[in-house]
Order: sequence, then C-alpha cells, then structure tokens
Amino acid sequence: MPLAAFRVVIILNLVASCGMDTAPLTTMSEARKTLEERAQMSDIDRLRHSCAHVMATAILRLWPNAQFAYGPPVENGFYYDFDLPDHRITPDDFEKIEAEMKKISKENQKFEWKGVSRDEAIALAKSGRLGGLTERPGNPSTFKLDLLEKIPEGEQISTFQNGDFIDLCAGPHVGYSGKCKHVKIMSVASAFYMGDDTKPQLQRLYGTAFPTSEELAKHLEQLEEAKKRDHRKLGKELKLFHIDEEVGQGLILWTPNGAILRQELQNFISEELRKQGYSQVFTPHIGKVGLYKTSGHFPYYKDSQFAPVIENDDLAKVIKEGCGCCEVMERLGAVSARMRQQLNERAGKEVITEDRVLPDDKLLDGFLLKPMNCPHHIKIYDSQPRSYRDLPVRLAEFGTVYRWEQSGELNGMTRVRGFTQDDAHLFCTEDQVAKEVLGCLSLVKIVLNTLGMHDYRVRVGLRDPDSSKFTGNPEQWDKAEAACREAAATLGVPFTEEPGEAAFYGPKIDFVIKDVIGREWQLGTVQVDYVLPVRFDLTYNGADNRPHRPVMIHRAPFGSMERFCGVLIEHFAGHFPTWLAPEQVRILTISEKVDAFADEIYAQLKDAGLRVSLNNDADKIGAKIRLAQLDRVPYMLVLGEKEAAAQCVAVRHSKKGDLGVKPIAEFLAEIAAEVKERRL
Ligand SMILES: [Zn+2]
Ligand SMILES: [Zn+2]
Repeated sequence: MPLAAFRVVIILNLVASCGMDTAPLTTMSEARKTLEERAQMSDIDRLRHSCAHVMATAILRLWPNAQFAYGPPVENGFYYDFDLPDHRITPDDFEKIEAEMKKISKENQKFEWKGVSRDEAIALAKSGRLGGLTERPGNPSTFKLDLLEKIPEGEQISTFQNGDFIDLCAGPHVGYSGKCKHVKIMSVASAFYMGDDTKPQLQRLYGTAFPTSEELAKHLEQLEEAKKRDHRKLGKELKLFHIDEEVGQGLILWTPNGAILRQELQNFISEELRKQGYSQVFTPHIGKVGLYKTSGHFPYYKDSQFAPVIENDDLAKVIKEGCGCCEVMERLGAVSARMRQQLNERAGKEVITEDRVLPDDKLLDGFLLKPMNCPHHIKIYDSQPRSYRDLPVRLAEFGTVYRWEQSGELNGMTRVRGFTQDDAHLFCTEDQVAKEVLGCLSLVKIVLNTLGMHDYRVRVGLRDPDSSKFTGNPEQWDKAEAACREAAATLGVPFTEEPGEAAFYGPKIDFVIKDVIGREWQLGTVQVDYVLPVRFDLTYNGADNRPHRPVMIHRAPFGSMERFCGVLIEHFAGHFPTWLAPEQVRILTISEKVDAFADEIYAQLKDAGLRVSLNNDADKIGAKIRLAQLDRVPYMLVLGEKEAAAQCVAVRHSKKGDLGVKPIAEFLAEIAAEVKERRL
C-alpha cells in the first residue's frame, strides 16, 4: 500500500430541511490519510492492508509489468488499483492470483519498514523498483512518482518490503505474510487514477481477508445469502415492482403484488398514526418555485432536484425574448425586493443576498416537483389561526417526492429518483417537543417489532458547539437535544450520541436496523426544526393571548416506502408474513373431480377477505406445490376426493410444511386471527 493512502469519505449533503437527509446524497471522494490516522488503523484493516501488498506481489509474479497506484483497506476487504497494459483481469484469473497469494503467505515473508529520503524514493521509483519485484528499466513507477509528490515536505517517507516486493508505504502492517492466509479475491472493476476521470483508467481488484478461515467462510456465506435475498432479483421473481427505461431510471412502478405489500404496510402505519392522534392530509406533487425560495430549498439545492417546470406563459415570454437557458435559471431563482426584505426581517439576518433580487417583470415563475413535503404541510398549518389548545398539530401524508440522483447512484428500490415518504410534520410548543419525539420513537418500535426487526439502534445527532454551521439559540438547542436524548433513553432503545451530526436547524435522530443476516440499513429520521417556522412566519396564539412561534418536527422514520419495502423483501427473503403476503392462500387440486369443491372453497376464502388463488391446472400436485413454494405463498390448501367428501382442506405452509387436514371453518378462523394480529 502506497504512502498516499486513500479513504472513501461520504459527504452527506446537508439540506435546509427534513427529508433531504433521509436519502442522503453521497459523493465519493478520496482523501489522503494522515500519519496519525494511519497509526490508528484497526487490526483487521492492518491485516487487509497487508493482503493488498501480498496481492500486488502475486500479480507481479504473474505480470511483471504491472504498475501499481494505491491499495487501501475498505469496508469488508481491500483493493489495489493498477495498470496492466497487456492484460485485462477477469474472474478466470482469480484462482491463479489466489494460488500465488497462498504461496506468498506460506513463504511467511517479513514486512520490513525502511525510512528513505525523498531522493532515494524518487530513484527507486524511476528505476521501476517501487511497486515492483525487480528494477524495471524503461518502466518507471509512474504512479508512485506522482504519489511521492503528494507527500508533504518534511513528512517521513518510507517503504515496506515483503520478499522481493518493495512498496512506497507508511504502514502499518502485520509482521509476516503468514497471517495473510484466509483471503479471497472478490471482484474486478475499472477505476480512474485518484478517482479523477481526466486521469488514466486502471484496473481495481477487490479482495477480502479475515484472521480465521471460519470468519472468512461466514462472510462468504453471508454474501451468498445476501445475493439470494437481493430485492432486485426477488422483486422480479415475485413480480413486486418494475423499472422501465422508457418511464425513467430510478422511478418505481409498483406492480399489483408489490402494491399489496405497500398498501398493507401503509394501512398498518396509518392505524398506528391514528392511535397517536395524527391527521391524514393529501398534497399535490408540485409546488410553485417561490414556495421553495421561502423555505430555502431553491436554488441552493437545485443540483439534487429536478429542474423546475417553467410556467407556460413565462416560457412563451422567454422564447420570444430569446433568453438563454442560464438566464432562465437565474431568473427562476431570483426573488423580488419585497420577498427579500420579508425573509431577512423574519430571520433577523441576511438569508437572501442582494444579488438575487430582480425587478418583478424579470422574475419567472414555475413549479418544482416537490423535493419534500414540509412546505405543503406548513401551508396547511398556516391555513387557519391556531391556538395553543390546538397543539400539537400532527399532519401525516404518504407524500411522494422527487430528487435528482446521478444515474450511477441508482439502485433498485433503495436509491431512486421518486419515492413516497412516510412523512409527517408536527407543530408544537417547545415544551411539547420531548413528548412528541418520544411518540415518534415508540411508533418505530411498534412497527419494527411487528416486522420481527428487533435489532436496531438510534443515532442522536447533536450540534458541534464549536461549529458556526448550526443556527438558532443555544438554549433552544440544549432543550431540544435533551428532549431527543431523553426520548431515546425513555424508550430503552440503544442509542449513540454523535456531536456535529445534527441538521443545522436542529438535532435529529436516525434509525439503523440490522436485518436477519446482520446487515445494517439506515432508515429515516426525526428532526427538530426551529428554522422553517421562522421562514414561514408561523404562529399560534398562546395562553397569554399573544402570538408565539411553534417548533416543527419532521419525521419519516421508515424513510420511504420504496426503501422500506426493498429492505423488507431482503429481510424476509420474499417469505412475507401472511398479513403482508400478496397472495395468502393458494388452492391446489389433485384432480378435476374436485373442481366444484375447489370453487366453493375459493368463494368462501374470497368472501372472508383473503387474497386467494386457485390452481386447478392438469399438472401433478407435486409440481403445483413446488410452484406455490417458489411463489412464496404462505398457505397451500391441497384438495383431493377425500377432503371433498369430508368437507375439509389439507393445509400446507410454505415454511412449516404439512399442518394436517382441517375443516374449512377451522382454517378460516385461524388465518383470520393470524392476519388480524399481524403475526410473523
Ligand atoms: Zn501498505
Ligand atoms: Zn419535512
């Protein structure tokens, strides 16, 4: 591993209000690690980092011309980027490389550190010796030379050598290559040098390594299991959703089976919301650009939104004026002098600068596909005078929003461009914040427990008192942070506090769940907000008969229905509990002699409100059972002449197997109770 090691930094786009945070936009960037950071490398990373050297050694034994760039440890493994002009690595090469790595491990080479001067390092690189097994005349170590230039003056330059392989590297390493034993090459990809698309394209070989063979086997098994559960694969097999290029990437088409899953889930969440005193609202998918200027979402976050839809009249006007598209965008984002004055007055500081002001006849109007639901809900709150007796006002909507994600970032249902948040906005007094946050957390607890997701934690994002990023007054912050902490503690949910992770307008709580195979998924958030009530000048009439400012809480604890359903598909591996299953019962006939009886049973189940289908094809019963099993139908009712004569059904469960023959009334009562109680 070269000295200039790189790590992946995920930059969360902090956005002016809730929601944007629930599907964080990530940008990959590669930043050099400091020597101190390197010294703190964990044992497992140290092992994997050493394995990257062993892999490089192996590659050089097979392809002596290889030119290495950098190879850091990453989550679950390591990689090394290199240039191999005369060979493209494919999975067919993996076995060969692994075999060579095992040999190197057996040789138990010592990893030896050596401090070198800059001149020595440059001489080594020029001779092709850095990142090589021998000197390679005419083939200098070009990437190492470049990396050397990036090492700050005065920093110790060092190499690590194992066997014949010398690399520019600050370590740390394990002692001997014998430790690099339980390794596996995972995949190969292309990567630009330094992640910069103006630089040469390299090959990136990924591997993983563990201290023991058991841990490696367990990891590989988990990956295999994850592959089987992949919601994109199951989504297709179980006909849950479809993505159509002609409709657009990242736009989910919920097919009938998936729509049932979503509807059942929404019904369940809605029931709980009603119990908690929420009011359901509906709002349109678009809103005027001006609304988002007031909220602050436009134009600052325009890169993560779809471009505005310009109003027809305005469009005709700008076409006539021959106005260029840059100007159109500028004029859409501009504000009137009045609006600027109003917002600055409310905020008590300059939130809108003078350069954004244009005369009224220059302003253009249009609509945004809504990137979040908050402004719409704010307008509902503000549509009538509110008294302290009305608070808290809790407005809930499964609200669909649209965000612009790079096409490379899209992924099945879990990263999309249009999604429906399980959104709600609560408007309350400062004293009510703690209780309301607790309510949000208990809802999450109920829903996750019902779904058998018992393993989850919350992260309480607090402000960094030393940072100027966080707005509002310190007392409010203290109070809101205490409320979040208290709510998490009251509920007995494991939580961590993360200073500096708050949204700039208030503290927040994130939910992270662990699925049955141990993977963590970040779901949604609860955020306390002191900023939007100011921007929209929201008030309520207090007991003192004077106007007061409410506090807003944004909450979308499951993030979006798309993401949550994607996670559920993988969590259940498509074996949904009966109440969620798109098809709950399938009737399978043994011969056509029982067709009439089967029709009768079918009608009874349908009348009972069950999602039932009938397979009376001519296929053998074994084949029918296999198909129902593949379709993950929880209950199969097998009907033969014996059952018909006794007016009974032979019940089979997709996971529990044969459950015996029962009178139809008994089966109906059982399944009705199971669905009603939402049993797992
Ligand atoms: Zn290294
Ligand atoms: Zn919101």
